[in-house]
Amino acid sequence: MVKTVDEMICTIHCQVAAIRKCQECYIARQELPAHWFQEPCSRPHLLVWAKVRGFRFWPGKVMEVLPNGRVDVHFFGTHNTATIRASECLVYSPQDPTGRPCRTKKWRKAIVEVNQHLAKLAAQFGDVNISSSKQLSTATIKEHLETMLPGASQRKLSETQK
Ligand SMILES: [Zn+2]
Repeated sequence: MVKTVDEMICTIHCQVAAIRKCQECYIARQELPAHWFQEPCSRPHLLVWAKVRGFRFWPGKVMEVLPNGRVDVHFFGTHNTATIRASECLVYSPQDPTGRPCRTKKWRKAIVEVNQHLAKLAAQFGDVNISSSKQLSTATIKEHLETMLPGASQRKLSETQK
């Protein structure tokens, strides 16, 4: 397949943007194509239920905090990304906030992946606290991440003290 220069530039831009968001996710995607999304990063991403207009709440990872109270979310199962208002997201909890059952293949894949990811986070960082589902704001992401994964912030602290 022949690509035009514009298409190649577009591809390179996408790759650079993905590397900027998280190098570890980018590398995992290249090296573990079948299960890269479940792999935790050394600086883990906050897990959320994100609501895109027209869709139910869906589990995802906050990849980046953007201006104007928005966040870049990468979704479990579909691996799609979306830019969403933080106020449209809830911090991840085991309870699906939509409250209606969903039996699609994509949904089942998303739930399997988020549970595998949580198990890997627990193996890597210890306790994972996901009991309460609070509304997200860009100002509180760091705080929520520390509550969700206290071991990750303690590890970061001990690494900086070395
Ligand atoms: Zn990552």
